[in-house]
Amino acid sequence: MTADTARWIRNFVDGQYVEPDENHSVRSFEKTDPATGLVVARVHEADEALVDRAVTGARSALGTWARTPVRERTAVLRRAADLIEERFEEFVAAEIADTGKPVTQARELDVARALANFRTFADVVAAAGQESFLTDLAGGRQALNYAVRKPLGVVAVIVPWNLPLLLLTWKVAPALACGNAVVVKPSEETPGTATLLAEVLRDAGLPAGAYNVVHGFGADSAGAYVTSHPGIDGVTFTGSSATGSHVMRTVAPRVRPVSFELGGKNAALVFGDADLDETLDGLTRSVFANTGQVCLCTERVYVHRSVFADVADGLAERARSLRLGRPLDEATTTGPLISQAHRDKVRGYFALAEQAGAKVLTGGGIPELGAELDGGSWIEPTLWTGLTNADRPVREEIFGPVAALIPFDTEDEAIALANDTDYGLAASVWTTDLRRGHRVAQAMDVGMAWVNTWFLRDLRSPFGGTGLSGIGREGGASSLHFYTEPTNVCVQL
Ligand code: NAD
Repeated sequence: MTADTARWIRNFVDGQYVEPDENHSVRSFEKTDPATGLVVARVHEADEALVDRAVTGARSALGTWARTPVRERTAVLRRAADLIEERFEEFVAAEIADTGKPVTQARELDVARALANFRTFADVVAAAGQESFLTDLAGGRQALNYAVRKPLGVVAVIVPWNLPLLLLTWKVAPALACGNAVVVKPSEETPGTATLLAEVLRDAGLPAGAYNVVHGFGADSAGAYVTSHPGIDGVTFTGSSATGSHVMRTVAPRVRPVSFELGGKNAALVFGDADLDETLDGLTRSVFANTGQVCLCTERVYVHRSVFADVADGLAERARSLRLGRPLDEATTTGPLISQAHRDKVRGYFALAEQAGAKVLTGGGIPELGAELDGGSWIEPTLWTGLTNADRPVREEIFGPVAALIPFDTEDEAIALANDTDYGLAASVWTTDLRRGHRVAQAMDVGMAWVNTWFLRDLRSPFGGTGLSGIGREGGASSLHFYTEPTNVCVQL
């Protein structure tokens, strides 16, 4: 399909899809399928005036949505979940068109989590109470302090391309449940599901203007227009640490709150007493899930020297058994990288690892999958030994299906190696000694530490990172705190 015959992906502003100019003189860009490299759609890029319309529409929607009773707001969220369920396969198809990921993953993780996000945050907001304090005063009187929580206002939601629908609904569901209006800027790589979600939210009864989607890039495009708009009351952002830092500078003059879920360079720690089969299954997921393009993915595997050879051999064997292939083939386990540009970045780290003297246990190249797939951004699952924490491939986020295996001798050494990073998102600890599991997990300088599992989530628990990995937490009550502002009322009794 050529760009001219491809379908349009449109912006959704103030309750309506915006038709691109009929003579196509508007700014637009091509959306390619990462599995084939073929153009599948043309995306209407929002200009500054359209972003302004979105923010203005969002502000006027606040007048009704912020005042809508909680039980009605949460009913809209539950209807949205039901509608996504009814149109499940449409969302699966849109997720695949966006990312090229395997159909089984799109069904079991991405779209399933979108439903869970809407239902969980409807529950969380419906059950939320508020703190109050009785204050003893001199002379025996008391004061009652209680806080009422109000929506933050118009929230800019800026999201990346790796789990586009999952990460979008993770923010949109609590923001809307709390009575905010949102202006969403999906990644330029994955414009599809955010656009489809607009239909669902409209049909679920969300008032016009409460959910807007504007398409485009970062600098000099929709991302910058949204985050620099004076009508934005807060920014929730998931993406790279460098972009997060940039967004923080953009909002600094107006002192707006930010919630940042940024990059990671996550460690796994495998102790000599670990259950090796369970550990190898877990590591295979944590290194290679979504082709390594999950912020939580493991790129550093520290292994006790007594089991190093077994873990290295076992993980390499499992990496070789992953099935790269057509997204719609149910047997496919592993999709492409998101783009040729991202593949160039990942291959740059292959070259750096080689220069640093790494031994390639498996992978290290570009697979030949044949036919139309050869135009896609495919890469081989790759494992290295022979690197240290001083090497750039062990220090910098690669965001691909790749990990370095490094031996350790003592628990203290393992903890020090794992914490020797500027990031602080996630870690996983593999051991059958439960005391050690708790001890080491608690010693990790990260937002989330797992013991004998990975990416197991309870959406009510806090999620986020320290250091370069972010600012703040979302999930459960943490989301309510970000998406609302309290007004404390103090009454002398
Ligand atoms: P990115 O930072 O390049 O882009 C993220 C979003 O920001 C995109 O929508 C992009 O268009 C927009 N953007 C870029 N420049 C901007 C600017 N100047 N102003 C406003 N918006 C701008 O990230 P990416 O490549 O899309 O995603 C991969 C990164 O996301 C990785 O670093 C990964 O670790 C991180 N990530 C973190 C989490 C988490 O929960 N911590 C989850 C998923 C991904």
